[in-house]
Amino acid sequence: MYDIAIIGAGPAGMTAGIYARRAGYTVAMFEMSMPGGQAATTDQVENFPGYPEGISGSELAMKFYEHCNAFGVQTVFEQVVSLELEGEIKKINTDTGMARNTYEAKAVILATGAHPRMLGVPNEERLRGKGVSYCGTCDGFFFRDKDVCVIGGGDVAVEDAIYLANMCKSVTVFHRREELRANKRSQELALSNDKIHFEWNTVVTAINGEDKVSGVTTKNVKTGEVKDWTVDGCFVFVGNDPNNACFPAALSLDERGYVLTDDAYASNLPGVFAVGDCIHKNVRQISTAVGDAGAVMNAVERYLREGGGHA
Ligand code: NAP
Repeated sequence: MYDIAIIGAGPAGMTAGIYARRAGYTVAMFEMSMPGGQAATTDQVENFPGYPEGISGSELAMKFYEHCNAFGVQTVFEQVVSLELEGEIKKINTDTGMARNTYEAKAVILATGAHPRMLGVPNEERLRGKGVSYCGTCDGFFFRDKDVCVIGGGDVAVEDAIYLANMCKSVTVFHRREELRANKRSQELALSNDKIHFEWNTVVTAINGEDKVSGVTTKNVKTGEVKDWTVDGCFVFVGNDPNNACFPAALSLDERGYVLTDDAYASNLPGVFAVGDCIHKNVRQISTAVGDAGAVMNAVERYLREGGGHA
């Protein structure tokens, strides 16, 4: 049995792992794919301290992972399919594709992060991977010298539009308002980029194409004008939903499925804590995920010191 199980190896989970090992606990950190979470799919991170020239998300993720390894965090590369969190001993059930395993821990830190939300328009699901993408840095390469569109006006939409403009022929950004939500620096870079064109007050009502994306249909929400556009790729960046499929029903979540925690990052279940993008909060950045995880260990240590996790 481990002292602490961490579910997810994004910036929050990896930071929690480093803190837990430095405090002398045995730690298993569960990850079903590559360490780094959504941060690893970010082209350039400019707002994480210590990297004045910026750093690619994948490189930063690798640095976090090396840091975990240096302190002896054990990473279990298996998919967590369910969690039994109500008893003193927490059970982590995994599926490797070939076997089902169960691990035990005295305390659990949920750091499962979030995933891109679907737009929910006709043909989106059918053309996913055939021109519909949710990650510019992962798929931009396939659209070299092609015309693509981006949907959304947040940090991810604007930063990925800038990334895509490096390789695509043109990038048309459809945003439902006439004001971007993204940070000002990214806005300035995108608005001054000749290859990026903004269509304001415009929603995409359908993605078109038979075997692959051939275009999108939009509607201007102010004028009502409906228009068809020819594009080879359609990048959807309309926010995130929490990764909560493995959470038990007894865990308290908000109406969108994010974990409700107190000021010390404790959930409603004793010995179960949550940090990073999977919790109910206002700001989701690498630095805030790291901050949550740096702070959570206070409460985890108190829980273990006071005898939590003993059957
Ligand atoms: P976000 O900030 O929630 O932005 C989502 C965007 O999609 C908004 O512009 C929103 O429009 C639009 N949208 C939502 N639903 C829509 C719909 N049905 N149809 C059309 N448009 C729709 O999400 P995000 O950009 O994925 O970022 C997620 C979190 O990560 C945020 O907290 C963000 O700050 C953070 N992040 C930060 C950085 C950074 O600091 N450099 C980089 C990446 C991500 P409205 O604006 O009208 O609501």
